[in-house]
Amino acid sequence: MWLRIPMLGNIRQENFVRRMVVGAVLASLLVGFLVALVLVQGFRQREEQAVVTVENLSWVIEQSLGGAITLIDHALLSASDEASRQMQDGGGLDPVSFNAFLARQNARLPNADGLRATNAEGATLYGEGVLPGANAVGRDYFIKLRDDPNAGLAMSKPLIGRISKKWAVIFARRMNKPDGSFAGVVFSPINLESFTKIFSQIKVGQQGAVSLFDSEAALVVRYPEQNGFGSAIGKKVNSNLLQELIKTGKSKNAERAISQVDGVDRIYSSRKITGYELYISVGLSIEESLEGWKTNAITLIVIWLLFTLVFFSLTIQTARGWRQRVATLKTLEEKAELEAKVADRTRDLEELNRKLSALSATDGLTGIANRRRFDETFAQEWNRAARSGQTLALILFDVDLFKNYNDHYGHLKGDDCLRKVAQLLHGHARRSGDLVARYGGEEFAFMAPGMDDEAIFALAETIRKALEGLEIPHAMSPLSRVTISAGVAVRVPGFGDPPESLVMLADQALYRAKREGRNRTILAEDVVAAE
Ligand code: GH3
Ligand code: MG
Ligand code: MG
Repeated sequence: MWLRIPMLGNIRQENFVRRMVVGAVLASLLVGFLVALVLVQGFRQREEQAVVTVENLSWVIEQSLGGAITLIDHALLSASDEASRQMQDGGGLDPVSFNAFLARQNARLPNADGLRATNAEGATLYGEGVLPGANAVGRDYFIKLRDDPNAGLAMSKPLIGRISKKWAVIFARRMNKPDGSFAGVVFSPINLESFTKIFSQIKVGQQGAVSLFDSEAALVVRYPEQNGFGSAIGKKVNSNLLQELIKTGKSKNAERAISQVDGVDRIYSSRKITGYELYISVGLSIEESLEGWKTNAITLIVIWLLFTLVFFSLTIQTARGWRQRVATLKTLEEKAELEAKVADRTRDLEELNRKLSALSATDGLTGIANRRRFDETFAQEWNRAARSGQTLALILFDVDLFKNYNDHYGHLKGDDCLRKVAQLLHGHARRSGDLVARYGGEEFAFMAPGMDDEAIFALAETIRKALEGLEIPHAMSPLSRVTISAGVAVRVPGFGDPPESLVMLADQALYRAKREGRNRTILAEDVVAAE
């Protein structure tokens, strides 16, 4: 049966599977792209947030530190003014009242480690807890203030206080005589740990840092200090951001940099403390700023990977199923095609065989006319004889004991024998209209139109004897050779008589020949005369 599978044409396209895989890759890439987009946006947001935070923090610190320094500066200015005032009245400073003044001011300075003053030679003479012989003459701030009447507030490098034994910076102001000449300095050491206290109130995280620098970019104080307080004091930082700030005094936008102190990657915001040569720098660790983002990123990437994995395994499964289906349908179609072809061929062959056998009128084994040819010709001659009123004679020959012959000599020899008999018969069909045919098996028919009973009988006998004369050995026959029996019948056909009636007569005669001992000819009794 011819089976058509209409879908197969489309299904067959291998492109389909390829397209499916490409689609899956694209889908995965698209989702990956969206994930990346979300992450980049999140990253930028965090960064921007960190920038805003760090700038706010640096501003707040600048304000509070500036406030604290201004407070000290005001106390120093007041002391300087008081000194000038006292000197204007009586030429020299009154140690008692000046000490009392300094003590009063000192009490108002929570971060100061005392408030003291020197004379013009640097000897520390005024204030609480003055050590005998203490002298500031060699100190940088003293020299600066002595030599520059307009120096303003001076600040020392960080140092370890002689009295407190702690890290401190000294803020100082010049005292002037009434004529404007140098009268000494009033100074206040500020414990650096008090700055740290201010810084520690600012939440900059575990990795954040707040630093105070002087005008030479040297670290004054830093919070937190991993290696203990004071470990980084005085360290100079080579930062472009800071250098520019020191040069211009203008704060720039926050920038990302790796710390030269501890190597941490941070966003830094640096500012000048308004009015003073001090610079504050606040840094927030990038890692800490991105902490939440990192967790999000990992979660999203894992989800994306899972999605890709599931999506791909589904695609592969579908593709496999598809391939299998295509293969099955293909096999089915091929099978159907094959079956159809076989059916076609079989039909063709049958048709051919029919045509061939119709065309063939010859017996394959003996080469003489076959049964069909005989039947056709015999019927025609029968009708012709009926019309013309002529006789039609028929001899039926049958090889005697041929089964024994076959059994003894084998079927192939039997075939040879049949061919010899046929040849012999054929040799005797000399008149036009004579027809020799293989009637079936080892039986032959001899048709002779217009021959009378005597002639046909004589012919049958001639043939029978001729065969005997061939002396084909037949061990299983009493005569030891191949013989033949013949039944002869002659009639002028009557209208409406079937041709088989003549065959029946000949057959009966043949039967009698067999019964009467074989190797003989018998003429049917019912002959022409009966008509
Ligand atoms: P009878 O004398 O009574 O005719 O005996 P028989 O053995 O000839 O008759 P039977 O009908 O018993 O046997 C006919 C044998 O003819 C049987 C069969 O094997 C053989 N035969 C028929 N056609 C062929 C053929 O084409 N080739 C061969 N070799 N043998 C054939
Ligand atoms: Mg027979
Ligand atoms: Mg026979």
